[in-house]
Amino acid sequence: MVAFADFHRRSIEDRDAFWSEQAQLIDWQTKPQQICDYSNPPFAKWFVGGTTNLCHNAVDRHLADRADQAALIFVSTETDQEHTYTYRDLHAEVQRMAAILKAQGVTKGDRVLIYMPMIAEAAFAMLACVRIGAIHSVVFGGFASHSLATRIEDATPKVIISADAGSRGGKVIPYKHLLDEAIRLSSHKPGKVLMVDRKLAPFTPVADRDLDYATERAQHMDTVVPCEWVESTHPSYTLYTSGTTGKPKGVQRDTAGYTVALASSIPHIYQGKPGGTFFCTSDIGWVVGHSYIIYGPLIGGMATIMYEGLPIRPDGGIWWSLVEKYKVNVMFSAPTAIRVLKKQDPALLSKYDLSSLQALFLAGEPLDEPTAKWISEGLNGKPIIDNYWQTETGWPILTICNGVEKAESKFGSPGKAVYGYNVKLVDDQTGEELTGANQKGVLTIEGPLPPGNLQTIWGDDKRFVSTYWSTVPNKLVYNTFDWAVRDEDGYFFILGRTDDVINVAGHRLGTREIEESISSHPNIAEVAVVGVADQLKGQVAMAFAIAKDTSGLTDDAARSKLEAEIMKVVDTQLGALARPARVMFVTALPKTRSGKLLRRAIQAVCEKRDPGDLTTIDDPTALTQIQDQIA
Ligand code: AMP
Repeated sequence: MVAFADFHRRSIEDRDAFWSEQAQLIDWQTKPQQICDYSNPPFAKWFVGGTTNLCHNAVDRHLADRADQAALIFVSTETDQEHTYTYRDLHAEVQRMAAILKAQGVTKGDRVLIYMPMIAEAAFAMLACVRIGAIHSVVFGGFASHSLATRIEDATPKVIISADAGSRGGKVIPYKHLLDEAIRLSSHKPGKVLMVDRKLAPFTPVADRDLDYATERAQHMDTVVPCEWVESTHPSYTLYTSGTTGKPKGVQRDTAGYTVALASSIPHIYQGKPGGTFFCTSDIGWVVGHSYIIYGPLIGGMATIMYEGLPIRPDGGIWWSLVEKYKVNVMFSAPTAIRVLKKQDPALLSKYDLSSLQALFLAGEPLDEPTAKWISEGLNGKPIIDNYWQTETGWPILTICNGVEKAESKFGSPGKAVYGYNVKLVDDQTGEELTGANQKGVLTIEGPLPPGNLQTIWGDDKRFVSTYWSTVPNKLVYNTFDWAVRDEDGYFFILGRTDDVINVAGHRLGTREIEESISSHPNIAEVAVVGVADQLKGQVAMAFAIAKDTSGLTDDAARSKLEAEIMKVVDTQLGALARPARVMFVTALPKTRSGKLLRRAIQAVCEKRDPGDLTTIDDPTALTQIQDQIA
C-alpha cells in the first residue's frame, strides 16, 4: 500500500501521469492523446482525443469473464419481485431497450428523459441511452408535474421513458397523469413516450405518442445494437439539481472522465472487487443512484442490488436479510435511513449473517455521532465511512480512501480530500486561503475539477461560470457552497450550506423553488421558506406566509384549511418531498431596510437560537410574530 498523502499529492502535482494510470482501468476504442486540457479555465476537458463507451465498460467488457455472474439484482418488497440478471441477461435487455430507442429515431446526442420508479427497466433505459450515445436525464419519481415540466423544457427530450406507477409502503403511486400534465405544461413535446406497464395503475395511452414497452420489446428480442464509440467529452447524462435560484440546473457529465473516476473509486474508496456485491439503497433519481446503483459497481464487474421499497417493510431487517442472502460486500446508504432503522428493534441486525460486509458508506447529509455510533455497534465495529460530495461532482470529494491506505475515521468528519481534489478552505469575504487548523471557511476546489465532475450546466456555460466560479472574491475556484473546518490532522468537518439550499432526508431542495410554488396559490402574497433542524430528517422546510385576504383567517380551522391547500399545491407541483412541515401565517416577514429577507434570523428563531445581529432589520415585530408562532 502507498501512503495516501503521497497518492493525493501525486494526483495534484503530477496530475496527468496519475490520471493516465487510472485511465488504464477502463476500455478504450481510441486511447486519449491528452489527459487534461485546461487551456480554457474553468472548463476542463479530460482524456482528449480518446473514444470510449460507458455501457461497454459497464456491461459488454465483462462478458468475456463473467457473462453468467449476477450483474443486476432487482428486489421489490412493494410488488414481491426478485430477479437476478446476469451480465449476459443485462447485455440482452439493454440491447432490446437500445433497439426500441433507435427505432424511434434516437441517435447520438439526443436526449431521453427517464421518469421511472426503481425497477430494472430503468437501469436498462440508462444503459441503453449511453450505449447509443444518447444523453439521459433521470428525473426522480417523487417529483410532480411542475418539477418534471421544467426538466422536460430544459432537456428537450426526443423520447420519455416512464411507467404506470411506483409504489411506496404498499401504496400505488400513479405516474402517468403527472407525466401527461407535465408534457401539457411544457412548451417542448417529446416525440414518443415509452411506457412500462407494471399493471399497478390503469391508464389511457395517448394515441400516436405512447408506446407499450412489452410490445416494442417483443419486436427486438434478438436485435444487435453495437456500442456507439463516443469522444471522451461527449455528454453521458444530465441530472437536475437545486440551487439558490428557482430554476433547477442540469448538471452535465462527460463520458470518459466519469467512467475513469468511477472505475478508480471502486477499489480505492469502496474496496469493491470484481465478482463482489454492492448494495446502494439510494434511488436512480439522485446522483448516488447513478454512480453507485448503476455505473460504478457494473464498471467494477460487481453485482449491484436495485431495491424498491422501504427499509422497514416487511420489517426493519429487510436490508440486512439482503446483505446475508446476496453476500453484500459494500453497502451504501444515507444517515436518514439509518435513523429510521435506529427506531426498530436492534435484534433485527443481529439476526442475520453480515460477515460478507466490509464497510457501510453513508452520504448525502451530515452524519451525526449518535447515528454513526449506533450503526457501528450494530455492525460489530465494521467501518462506517462518511462520504461528502454533491450532484455536481459525481463521486466523493471528502472521505477515507481505505483502498489506498487504511485510516481511522473521526466521528463527525467525512475525512480528508479525496485524490484528484485540490480542496481549499477560503475566507468568504476576501477569498484568502485559510491554512490554519480549525478555521471556518468556504470549501472550494481549485480547477481543473477532477474527472467525473460536471463539465458545465446543460445549455448554459455562463451560468456554470457565474454560479460556481465567480462567487469567491478574487479567486477562480469552484464553490461547493458548504462551510467547513479542517483540523490539525487534515480531517474536514462540514458545517452546513452557505446558500439557501436545504437538505431534507438527504434530498437537496432550493427554498426559492418551494417559495415560488407556494406563491402560486391565489391567496398568498409573500412567503419565506427556511430549513429547520429535525431529529429524523436532518432538516425540514418551514414556511411563513402572508395571505392576500386575511378576512377568512380568523380561527385555527381556517388557517389549517389554507395550510392544507398550500401543501397540496406543493405536492402537485413539486412533489411531496418538497412539502413544508408547516405553513404558518404572519402579516409581515423580517427583512432588512433594503428589502432582503432575513432567512438566517428566521431559521435561528425556529431553532430557538440567537438570531444574531438585527441592526439592519426594518420591522422587528415581524420576527416577534414568527417567535410567537413557533413558541
Ligand atoms: P446533493 O447534490 O443532493 O448530493 O447535495 C449535496 C449537498 O449535501 C452538499 O453540498 C452538502 O451540503 C450535503 N452533503 C452531502 N454529503 C454530506 C456529508 N457526508 N456530510 C455533510 N453534508 C453532506
